[in-house]
Amino acid sequence: MSVRIGVIPVTAFMQNCRIIAREGGHDAIAVDPGDRANEIACMAEDADLHLSGIVITHAHLDHIGGAADLQELTGAPIYGPCIEDQALIDAIPRQSEGLGLRQCKSFKPQFVSDGQILKIGDLPALEVIATPGHTPGGACYYCKEEGFVLTGDTLFQLSMGRTDFPGGDEDAIYESLGKLMRLPDATKVLPGHGMDSTIGFERENNPCVAQALRRA
Ligand SMILES: [Zn+2]
Ligand SMILES: [Zn+2]
Repeated sequence: MSVRIGVIPVTAFMQNCRIIAREGGHDAIAVDPGDRANEIACMAEDADLHLSGIVITHAHLDHIGGAADLQELTGAPIYGPCIEDQALIDAIPRQSEGLGLRQCKSFKPQFVSDGQILKIGDLPALEVIATPGHTPGGACYYCKEEGFVLTGDTLFQLSMGRTDFPGGDEDAIYESLGKLMRLPDATKVLPGHGMDSTIGFERENNPCVAQALRRA
């Protein structure tokens, strides 16, 4: 891989916030900054990287809690999730209370849609794959050039995201998993929680994926 991917675990939910930059590049993106906006901004600065975008997989607080602060600190635009998560973004203050986290600010992202190509700074292109189910507006981001996909809380190693939160939809998440399984086997899976994996490993071993493929 010719990209560098750093992971900062954020919130009590140990969400994998990632900072991605090209080897020798000047720009970086932060994916799902659930918290620790200051540290994320400093990390980019220390590496001589310009934070050119904040990329969001879905509007749960452990993924977006630090987005407004990080935007304020860096001026970076916020991309994603899909517009169907608008209601969850509006409910950020209520989400913070419900999860016992500190009060977080709402923000105005540039919503993304299925098939859209995001070209941010000097980073390789990211293709949006709309993956509703865990939330209505969930999105995964596929980097064909580098062979990885950011799967948020849709696909985990040997598991998938819960569908019993408000707006969750079991049929939809199975359909979304089926969509992800169209990616090449060698594609690295970078989830919002837990260990990294590959599409091939998940197709072979993940019981939720097996269920999704049976339903298709
Ligand atoms: Zn979530
Ligand atoms: Zn999460």
